[in-house]
Amino acid sequence: MRGAPAPGRHGYVPDDRVPSARAAAAAPPAAPAPDVLLDWFDRHGRDLPWRRPGTTAWQVLISEVMLQQTPVVRVLPVWQEWVARWPTPDALAAEPAAAAVRAWGRLGYPRRALRLHDCATVLRDRFDGAVPADVETLLTLPGVGDYTARAVACFAYGAAVPVVDVNVRRVIARALHGAAQPGAATTPTDRADVAAALPADPQVAARYSAALMEYGALVCTARSPQCDSCVLPRCTWREAGFPAQEGPWRRPQRYEGTDRQARGALLAVVREADGAVSRAALDAAWTRDPGQRDRALHSLLTDGLLEQTDAGAFALPGEHGHRG
Ligand code: SF4
Repeated sequence: MRGAPAPGRHGYVPDDRVPSARAAAAAPPAAPAPDVLLDWFDRHGRDLPWRRPGTTAWQVLISEVMLQQTPVVRVLPVWQEWVARWPTPDALAAEPAAAAVRAWGRLGYPRRALRLHDCATVLRDRFDGAVPADVETLLTLPGVGDYTARAVACFAYGAAVPVVDVNVRRVIARALHGAAQPGAATTPTDRADVAAALPADPQVAARYSAALMEYGALVCTARSPQCDSCVLPRCTWREAGFPAQEGPWRRPQRYEGTDRQARGALLAVVREADGAVSRAALDAAWTRDPGQRDRALHSLLTDGLLEQTDAGAFALPGEHGHRG
């Protein structure tokens, strides 16, 4: 007699012992069905301010740029400050780029602040202050890549276009393709997988995209997927017994001691100062490796995040009239 099924590594009972799962396994895996995912999203999705009705396309654009490389919890207060201070592209474009860099605070990857400022300027000058609705036009904006263009078209305007971030790619890689982790970059196949599952109604499609993203962020996470409470009826990775990742795991990027940390330390000194900052003040901000400090300073100047004044001091862009 067959014994009681033992839970799998993630507390899951293998499919071949569950009759309903056996029936479901007859169909080829597909992206999660909208009804299952939307029901989960209604119950468990986070109430994030940029998802609320009435959020403008400009506010959605800001949120998408901020969220690309920064966790939600750190983005929330900065996004709220930005949309209150600059409710329209014109409002941001009316201030020097330094204001955007300063208000970016410690979100990291501060070139995004400059790009948003550039984007606001283009929206004011070429689009009468409106954010375009179609992906092709959005792609012409500074700092707007394929993901951001699709996210704005979908979440701000309800366009039924696949929006594929790293969380979506992870769910697709596991549920459809049996891989522990997605590949290095979004592929046309990822988009096609999601496009095939998008509901016809654009508003429902937009919500489906948000739900799929949220599922990857909260349930099908990179390190500890909650497979024992997963609502998806099929998962190829689970059905295959959770095979290990082929090749090395991509380790989270180290921050301590990196050039990026050195850049952050130098930029923080200028951001928190009232006026231009001397070279000596910057030298004091990063003493552990003078060569690394010089490299960081050079890259900040090259990126346009700092400018050198005529007196040889350092300032944020536009505060001393170099950038409009
Ligand atoms: S989709 Fe993700 S959470 Fe669900 S069973 Fe597969 S790996 Fe686990």
